Amino acid sequence: MKWKKWTKRATAVGAGMVCYSVFPTYILKYRWILKDRRQAEDAEKILYLTFDDGPDTVYTNKLLDLLDEQKVPATFFMVAESAKQHPGIVERMKKNGYSIGIHSQKHESAMLQPIGKTGRDLKKSVEIMEKLGVDIKGYRPPWGHLNLASLYWIKKLHLNLVFWDVMAQDWSADETPDSICNKILRRVFPGAVICLHDGRGENGAPGRTIEALEKAIPLLKKQGYVFRNAEEKYGEKII
Ligand SMILES: [Zn+2]
Repeated sequence: MKWKKWTKRATAVGAGMVCYSVFPTYILKYRWILKDRRQAEDAEKILYLTFDDGPDTVYTNKLLDLLDEQKVPATFFMVAESAKQHPGIVERMKKNGYSIGIHSQKHESAMLQPIGKTGRDLKKSVEIMEKLGVDIKGYRPPWGHLNLASLYWIKKLHLNLVFWDVMAQDWSADETPDSICNKILRRVFPGAVICLHDGRGENGAPGRTIEALEKAIPLLKKQGYVFRNAEEKYGEKII
């Protein structure tokens, strides 16, 4: 009869995990995507470029050179500890009107993270960015992972939870600038939030992202798309 007891325990732990992390993560993520897709038919041809995982010493300034040249606004969800190490890049973004949000303190997943740690992570991330002179309004969790404590702290810190509609797997070493560009062109729709990466990734991945955007931005503009700061979507709170 011992196995019965263990099965019961395993079921209870599994159900706890589902309620604590899996439900908040996937319900909110799919709600975001479905809402944007539903609205796409009537939406203006606006795209929101967002970048996670930076700032990065090698790539972020190169990316900013391209965005400046193309006059394309963008939003950067920064890993707070990386931002602390690159105040010059943060300053450049502020000066040139880019929007800055947080992407956790050290890029750790909130999936099954203890309650206290999630709260400390978010509070510390906001505090680091405030010291850099950034008023944080948006939060994109690493991998989109959330737990019940994340939801509490997002509300408490008056943050906007920002997911995405389009990814191009630009972190992968298997992708080329052309394949990333093609994925972006194929997947966008009016009102879509595009999630790319200016840091981390495999084998210099952000370099391929920048090359892809050199091609994709002019082509999207030709299709009639305009780019806006993701903060314009923050009015549409999802929690
Ligand atoms: Zn990330």
